[in-house]
Amino acid sequence: TYIVADNCIACKYTDCVEVCPVDCFYEGENMLVIHPDECIDCGVCEPECPAEAIFPDTEPDMDKWVEFNRKYAELW
Ligand code: SF4
Repeated sequence: TYIVADNCIACKYTDCVEVCPVDCFYEGENMLVIHPDECIDCGVCEPECPAEAIFPDTEPDMDKWVEFNRKYAELW
């Protein structure tokens, strides 16, 4: 899965939302999040993010961000 990290805070762009083929972006309190179970791992959103806030969960120390994304995505 891909996840959104804190570079997203205060970013006003929604390029990622527009390109996601499965619409798995959701609004958190002050940033967007990705639902980790809905993301199909296509990677299309990552290069579209102007804030470089989107990462694959295979990068080191991403566990807390996966849980953060899940928590806010599941509020919807
Ligand atoms: Fe959507 Fe693909 Fe990005 Fe996952 S990797 S959030 S499916 S655009």
